[in-house]
Amino acid sequence: MTDALRTLSTQVTDVTDGLCAYLDASPSPFHAVETAAELLRQGGFSEVAECDPTPSAPGRYVVRRAGSLLAWSTAEVGEGRAAHTPYRVVGAHTDSPNLRIKPLPDWSRAGWQMLGVEVYGGALTNSWLDRDLGLSGRVAVRDDAVTGGISQRLWRCDDPILRVSQLAIHLDRTVRSEGLQLNDQLHLAPHWGQGVERANFRSWLAEQVGVQAEALLGFDAMTHDLTPARRVGAQGELIASARLDNLATSYASVRAILHAVEHPCDGPVIPVIVLFDHEEVGSMSERGAHSTFLPAWLERIVMAAGGNREDYWRALASTVIASGDMAHATHPNYAERHEPGHPIMVNAGPVLKVNTNLRYATDSLGAATFTLACEAAGVPMQTFVTRSDLPCGSTVGPMTSALTGATTVDFGAPMLSMHSSRELAGTLDQAGYAAALAAFLTPA
Ligand code: ZN
Repeated sequence: MTDALRTLSTQVTDVTDGLCAYLDASPSPFHAVETAAELLRQGGFSEVAECDPTPSAPGRYVVRRAGSLLAWSTAEVGEGRAAHTPYRVVGAHTDSPNLRIKPLPDWSRAGWQMLGVEVYGGALTNSWLDRDLGLSGRVAVRDDAVTGGISQRLWRCDDPILRVSQLAIHLDRTVRSEGLQLNDQLHLAPHWGQGVERANFRSWLAEQVGVQAEALLGFDAMTHDLTPARRVGAQGELIASARLDNLATSYASVRAILHAVEHPCDGPVIPVIVLFDHEEVGSMSERGAHSTFLPAWLERIVMAAGGNREDYWRALASTVIASGDMAHATHPNYAERHEPGHPIMVNAGPVLKVNTNLRYATDSLGAATFTLACEAAGVPMQTFVTRSDLPCGSTVGPMTSALTGATTVDFGAPMLSMHSSRELAGTLDQAGYAAALAAFLTPA
């Protein structure tokens, strides 16, 4: 452990406990946004609806678009700020790979009541086998009391009602020699009851949310492993949980802006965080990183200060975006899968991500900006590049940079088992991560 990280270690318990609570409270992107909004409200942010005028008064604000959230503060730059005041933006994503319930999910076979599921994102599907699974998401219900006749609500069920059972070794011994082969259609359906009759998922869900079955007009429903997030390792130096990719960054972002508004910088910069849904499936939606969500709000904030489109483009010309997503630590059992010149260790600091083919948006200027933020926070930095003979992952950075023209840097916190239903990261890294992001939002 370095000296700089040793000083951060005093914050480890607070950050780790906070992250574990955030992870457990956020089984779906909708819950991740709800939980983040609540933390921001406690920090003095007030919520703005997208259909309302953008507030012109200096203040701390948060806006949501379903599973996406954007928060900003003009309180520190204050009254009479220049309309072209640049932004510092930290981006992350709220969604994680999982199994999602099909619209007409009920079927039965061999005396089991089954649910049809679709794999969301690049899940390591083997990690969903033999786990106690709950369900969560959002429903749209008939509501004559509101305009449009539809209201939405979040729901979750933390009872262990679902399980995807794997086949006994005696019935297919080739799994030992050839590895487990899972077909998404055939082998991942959870069972959730017994009997020859099909169960009725819609009726069950209507009861869960307290409405008549006819009033349930639509649902977004997904599975979650019920094992809580917890510290693991001989010294408790690790954290094991679902959804670390990328709720660890979402949580660090929220902490960072809360810190930034309490300790503002001298320079005129507006701190922003944006948490996107749908990163794991390409970001092309009304609320993903490829949407209008970020650029529209950056423009609206300029307009609310009396600016015009010229001011908006001037603001973007000096804006820097830090796109945070988890990074691959070198796996001890598969070290040959990693670039040998760029080893990445857990609990050794945030990771700058570089890819010359622009799977990451980092360039030398972005790298320099992030390096200064880590320096200011007293956090060591690591640099990741993938092996030249392996395809590189990607994230929201290239999209936000293309949509805004802002200098962008991709970075992450190191972890193992990315896209497993149970991932692993370092507790020390989480404290360093939040500190580095806070420093990024408040440049000297
Ligand atoms: Zn991710």
